[in-house]
Amino acid sequence: MSEKKLKGQIALVTGASSGIGKAIAIALGEAGAAVVVNYYSGAEAADEVVNTIRQNGSDAIAIKADVSKEEEVFSMFGEIIQQYGTLDILVNNAGLQQDAAFHDMTLQQWQKVIDVNLTGQFLCAREAIREFLRRGLQPERSKACGKIICISSVHELIPWAGHVNYAASKGAIKMLMQSLAQEYGPKQIRVNSICPGAIRTPINREAWETREAYQSLMSLIPYNRIGEPDDVGKLAVFLASDDSDYITGTSIFIDGGMAVYESFADGG
Ligand code: NAD
Repeated sequence: MSEKKLKGQIALVTGASSGIGKAIAIALGEAGAAVVVNYYSGAEAADEVVNTIRQNGSDAIAIKADVSKEEEVFSMFGEIIQQYGTLDILVNNAGLQQDAAFHDMTLQQWQKVIDVNLTGQFLCAREAIREFLRRGLQPERSKACGKIICISSVHELIPWAGHVNYAASKGAIKMLMQSLAQEYGPKQIRVNSICPGAIRTPINREAWETREAYQSLMSLIPYNRIGEPDDVGKLAVFLASDDSDYITGTSIFIDGGMAVYESFADGG
């Protein structure tokens, strides 16, 4: 059995009923944290994640909330405090894409992606930081007063034609994360981003589902395999634990080398 590095800590993972969020929730539970599985739709999928975490020996509950709605985020945090007393770890994972050529992009498509991917991270981070400040540092829980992990993307660095709303939201998360790390470092709150490349989840199914699509995807990935949600889960445990206590304000790319621009491998 793996070491329980997060024993006694409470974690919230947003958008945790599928994909990367699900894998992170399960990995944090395996590391000993009690996990709040936030979901937007599909209570059954969220309950399955809760059951898996419980079977692995940690506590878990599911809470439905739209992270882009202030009132729903308030009530989710209220429920967490009522149930567990505090929060130690926030993983801002919920996100979506609404792709369109820029000249065809509607304001609704732009706004939806910004609301969920960016404002959702703002609303949850603000409530988490309020709770970290209220509780204060408790060295028996963790060396840090609180940890926030923002799920960003390689597209906080790599421009993405046809996905301008998504790339803009992830670029903004970089500055949200770094500014928070700067503002709350003196309070021992650590804030970092995980920047996945191509991970095998529902959000990018068309990029890996067929053999042709997978092969074409490999032309972007020096390491020559797609990422699995578990790859990200392990990194989230590291960033949530005291093993990474001196890391804050950083984006960690987990992308099989996508961000080193494979297309320049032969000299460009
Ligand atoms: P996914 O679609 O499986 O997960 C996204 C989750 O967010 C879903 O469970 C969805 O229900 C939830 N969600 C959507 N709107 C919500 C809302 N308003 N409130 C609460 N939850 C909401 O896809 P994924 O790949 O697991 O994506 C997770 C995160 O990883 C996203 O932020 C995504 O941008 C990021 N990411 C994914 C990849 C990849 O290759 N899969 C790459 C880079 C970044």
